[in-house]
Amino acid sequence: MRLEGIHHITAITGDAPGNVDFYTRVLGLRMVKKTVNQDDPTVYHLFYADERGSAGSDLTFFEYPGAQPGRAGRGMVHRIVWRVGSDALSFWAERLAGEDVAVDRTQSRPPGALRFRDPEGLEHELIVDASGDDPLMAEHPEVPAEHSLRGFDGVRAYAEDPEASRSLLERGLEFKPAEDGWEARGEARGGFYAYDPPPEATGIQGAGTVHHVAWASVPEEQEEWRERVLRSGGRPTPVIDRFYFRSVYFREPSGVLFELATIGPGFAVDEPQESLGQRLSLPPDYEHLRAQIEATVTPLPPTRS
Ligand code: ZN
Repeated sequence: MRLEGIHHITAITGDAPGNVDFYTRVLGLRMVKKTVNQDDPTVYHLFYADERGSAGSDLTFFEYPGAQPGRAGRGMVHRIVWRVGSDALSFWAERLAGEDVAVDRTQSRPPGALRFRDPEGLEHELIVDASGDDPLMAEHPEVPAEHSLRGFDGVRAYAEDPEASRSLLERGLEFKPAEDGWEARGEARGGFYAYDPPPEATGIQGAGTVHHVAWASVPEEQEEWRERVLRSGGRPTPVIDRFYFRSVYFREPSGVLFELATIGPGFAVDEPQESLGQRLSLPPDYEHLRAQIEATVTPLPPTRS
């Protein structure tokens, strides 16, 4: 039994229109779901991914309109690492510079990497894909297929004492120790989880910070993963139905909020695959409030169908 790498990563935006522009137009991801926060239907939950809305490429944002900028600190994910093709780093360096996004071509990890932040400060890194996994790519008129983002390689979090998490990660979640951190690798995909020493300043969960990272489970194994987390000393929530997948949440010992999410049923469960993300999707309980909600939520720029 193995987790299939990262399922999705959820972060916070205070500027939904700017967020849509950056992730769909600049980074070339596809908006695969435009819905509302299940706990507050006046604000968005936006999902960006590859063309099919696959687990492994899905970056989602809770909208808190006008949220103050946050800051990653201990117990928080501070960097999202994406895979790209072997010639893609120069393409992205040029494209991002053309959008006035500062880029850092660090040489820290061969064969090089490229770091940048989104307009609200969320840090991303692109590294050349060495995984051998199927690339998860979105189609975009200005991003050639060979340069498209190919899904997540992993995430880095801040922790004072990574050893505190070892037992839960290795025995509870079957993460395998890697050169730097751990890898969760299933039959189809893998993803890494690693720590860096935290900055002095306390983290602030605000705009431009990661809220949680979800690991991908085949649906039949989710209950057993939940049991394992319990036996490893974690305190998982019951299974919660998120419509597009089912979820269990818990904090790993270093403080990072983890989710175990099922691969499927997926984003085509309530709208056609061809037009994912075009119309506002509402949970069934909120459908009768559609007119009111559509009049309340922040207007967004159009995205391609
Ligand atoms: Zn989630």
